[in-house]
Amino acid sequence: MATPLDNLDRLCVHTQTNKPWDLKSCIEAYAKAGIRGISIWRHLLEDQDLEAVRQLLSARNMQVVALVRGGFFPSTDPEKRQHALEDNRLAIAQAAAIGAPQVVLVCGADPGQSLETSRKQIQEGITALLSEAATAGVKLAIEPLHPMYAGDKSAVTTLAEANTIAENINSPWVGVALDVYHLWWDQDLESEIKRCGKNGNIFAFHVCDWNVPTVDMLTDRGLMGEGCIDVKQIRGWVEGSGFDGFIEVEVFSERHWNSDQNQYLEKIKTAYLKHT
Ligand code: ZN
Repeated sequence: MATPLDNLDRLCVHTQTNKPWDLKSCIEAYAKAGIRGISIWRHLLEDQDLEAVRQLLSARNMQVVALVRGGFFPSTDPEKRQHALEDNRLAIAQAAAIGAPQVVLVCGADPGQSLETSRKQIQEGITALLSEAATAGVKLAIEPLHPMYAGDKSAVTTLAEANTIAENINSPWVGVALDVYHLWWDQDLESEIKRCGKNGNIFAFHVCDWNVPTVDMLTDRGLMGEGCIDVKQIRGWVEGSGFDGFIEVEVFSERHWNSDQNQYLEKIKTAYLKHT
């Protein structure tokens, strides 16, 4: 019979879930808690010796699931689009340096132009990065965001749009990050997950919950079981479509950030085992 610790084998936590902690604290605490996967938010790499980060991860037997995040391709200003490409090249290099197999892309949107134009620039931007991604061995995961972010964060708001962009680009280095928070409401979710899996494009699976009522668009996500998303059902669809990677807990929550982070980590483990 599996021990409870064995059941955590596929659990990954995003560092932003424990925003009060620095990178070293996250690595040490996750390792101590029996968590094997970590997705690292880029701001934590500023001023860090990336080789030392890699060595610490290896010493604690932690696997980096993703570097979060690149993207933000669209702009009415060509210089800003160019700058975004350079920043994404840096993200790819950082990912390679710490052993992250993929960069999650929050694709961006510019309120000064149509979503259609932004989507076109997103596809062009990702395409421009293909050779760097392949050379570095780092995949690019398009993360569709909930439509409430379409104004300035992501013109890609449904899994169907993300699937179409990934299919248009048609590269083994480009796929999709599925996040229940952004996708749970979509009546076509099951069929689009199947489509994504059929193409081998499910690169990542992010979990949390949708609080009712939600009091902040950015920082009021729930832990699995706290809200109205049937995370288990969606996980079943994702795994039924061939995904067997880490389940990434990504919760932005003022409420949880204001609590004791070690106790919170235990709650995360329980929520993962019971409600995911
Ligand atoms: Zn996510």
